[in-house]
Amino acid sequence: MRPDTFSLSLKTAEVPVRVLLCLAWGLIASSAVAAAPVAQTVFVNGKVLTVDAADTVAEAVAVRDGRIVFVGTSAAARAHIGRRTEVIDLKGRTLMPGLVDGHMHPQSGGLRTLGCNLNYERLSREAFLARIQACLDAEADAPDDRWLVVINWFQQDMIPTGYAPTRAELDTLRTARPIMVRSSFGHSALVNSRALGVAQITRDTPDPKDGRIVRDAQGEATGLLEDAAQSRVQTLIPPPDAATHLKAARIALGLMAEQGITTFLDAYTDIETLTAYQTLYRRGDLTARGHFAVLIDAGETYDAKAAVAEVVRQRGLYDTGDQGAKPALRIHTAKLFLDGVITAPAFTGVMVAPYFENSGTEADPHWRPGHNRGPRPYFTPAQLSDTLGLLAEAGIDPHMHADGDGAVRQALDAVATLRRTHPDKDIRPAIAHAEIVDPADYTRFAELNALPVLSFQWGKPAADTIEGAREPLGPYRHALIEPSGLLDIYGARLTFGSDWPVDPLDEWFALKVAVTRTAAKADQGKYPGRLGVDPGLPLRTALRAMTLGSAYALHVEDRVGSVEVGKWADLIVLDRDLTATDPEALGDTKVVLTLLGGRTVYRRP
Ligand SMILES: [Zn+2]
Repeated sequence: MRPDTFSLSLKTAEVPVRVLLCLAWGLIASSAVAAAPVAQTVFVNGKVLTVDAADTVAEAVAVRDGRIVFVGTSAAARAHIGRRTEVIDLKGRTLMPGLVDGHMHPQSGGLRTLGCNLNYERLSREAFLARIQACLDAEADAPDDRWLVVINWFQQDMIPTGYAPTRAELDTLRTARPIMVRSSFGHSALVNSRALGVAQITRDTPDPKDGRIVRDAQGEATGLLEDAAQSRVQTLIPPPDAATHLKAARIALGLMAEQGITTFLDAYTDIETLTAYQTLYRRGDLTARGHFAVLIDAGETYDAKAAVAEVVRQRGLYDTGDQGAKPALRIHTAKLFLDGVITAPAFTGVMVAPYFENSGTEADPHWRPGHNRGPRPYFTPAQLSDTLGLLAEAGIDPHMHADGDGAVRQALDAVATLRRTHPDKDIRPAIAHAEIVDPADYTRFAELNALPVLSFQWGKPAADTIEGAREPLGPYRHALIEPSGLLDIYGARLTFGSDWPVDPLDEWFALKVAVTRTAAKADQGKYPGRLGVDPGLPLRTALRAMTLGSAYALHVEDRVGSVEVGKWADLIVLDRDLTATDPEALGDTKVVLTLLGGRTVYRRP
C-alpha cells in the first residue's frame, strides 16, 4: 500500500464552483439559492477517498435529495448544516464510493445460503460426514425420496490433502434419502448410492460429451460426477419456487449491503432471477442497483440474430430505465462463454500453447509441453464477430468469459473487428477472468478499450493457483498467472468482479490480495509468499477498479462510482482509515454504513 500516492487536496476554494455545478445540473429547486444548500446528511472529519480523476482525498461530504452536493473540508462543509441536518463525525475513518461488483452470481449465492452449507471450509472425513448428518437430522420428517442438496463443498482441499470421499462414505450416513454434495467450484458433485440409483447411473452408463462419471478400478461409479455428468442428477431435483427465489434475492441484497456493494452485475441471469428482482423493484425493496447479463449460448444450431433478439426481448420486459436516486434494473449486457477453466482437473481453458503433461511418473515427474490446448473455442471467430456486431447495433455490451490466453486472444480479436466495423458505438466489451493473458496481448486491452474483469482474490498462492496450475501451465506461464498488476502497467482499464459464490463473498479480502498477492494469514503456512511475478496493484488502483472501473463497464460512471458533486450518494463508511492500514490487514475491513442514493441500506450493529 502506498498511502503517500493519494494526493491530499482540500477543496475549500472549489465550493462555489461546485454549487454552481449543482445549479447547472438542475438539482436545486429554488432559484433564489445563492448560499450552500442545506443538506440532509453531512459527514465530517473523515478520510474521504473520492476516486475522482486526481484521487483527491477530502474530509467532508454533504448529501441532499439523494445526491452528493459537496465534497471538501470539514470547515467548508459547515455551510451545508441546517437545523435538521444529520451530522456524522467520521473520526478519521474512510468514506468512499459504494463498491461496484462487475461480475457476480447473486441469485445462486442467495440460494446457496438456504441449503445445507459446508461453507467452503477445509474438512476432514469425520467433519464432512458429521455436517451432512446434522442437516439430515434437522429434517428428520423429510420423506425418503426428498433430495438433500449439500453446497459449498471445498473439494480441492480436504484434510488430509488429497483426500477424496466417495459414495461409500455418504452411504454410511443414517438416511434413505438421495444426497448430492456440490463442490463450491461448480465443476463436480458427489452423490450417494441411492442418488445413483434414482438417476439410473450404472457401470454401463456412458460418459456424457462434456463430462465424466468417475469410476473405480472395477469400473463402478464412485459417486463423483464431473461437469456435464452432474446434470443427470441435477435435472431430478425440483427447482426452487418463486417464493424461494424471492427469499434468495433478499438475502443476496442483504449480504451486498453489508459488504458495501451498491451496484452489481449478475453475470449470467435467468427469468426466475429477473422476476424476483422485478418484484423487489416494484415493492421499493431494492437496496442495490441491479445490472443483469443475459446468456448467449453457442449451441449446435447457433443463430446469432435469434440469440441477440432474445436479449433485446428480455431488455424490453425487465429493464426499468436509468439509475436514479432510486435503484433501477438494467439489461444491457450479454454473457458469452468462450471457454472453461484453466486449472486441473478440467483444463477447459483455451490456450495459445499446449498445457504441460507429465511424461514421467508421480515420483519422478517430467513436465513437458503436451498437445492439448484445451477445447475448441465455444464460438467460431465468425460467430463471435457476427454476434458482437449485432449486439452493438442493439446497444448491448458483450461480457465474454475467457479464462485461457487463447480465449482472451479470441475475445480481443473479436473486439478489434467490432471497433473496425462499428467505430462510433459506445460499446464496452468486458473480458472476464483472463487468468492467463499472452504478453503479446497486454497492450491490446487499452488499444481496443476492452475491459478485463478480474477476481482479485484469485491472485494468491492457493490450491487452484499452485497445485492445480503450476505444473500444467509450465514455469513461464505460471509466473504470469492472474496478471492484474501487469494489465495495469500496460494501461488496461481494470474492473473487478467477485464471482461470488465461486468464493465466499468478501470484497475486502479481494482488495487485500489485489495489493499483497498473498494468501490469508491462516493459509500462509501452507501457501507462503506472493503469487507469480505480478507486482499487484497500488491500493488506489485496486479501489478504482472496484468502484469507478466497474461502473464504467456498466455505463454508470457518470452517476455513481466516485464521490463527486452531482453523483448519486452511494457511499460507504469503513471501520478504519484504509490508507493507514497494514496491507495484510485490509481484509479485516468492515463496512459500518452503506448509503444508496442517500438512503441508509446497511448499518453495522
Ligand atoms: Zn462467473
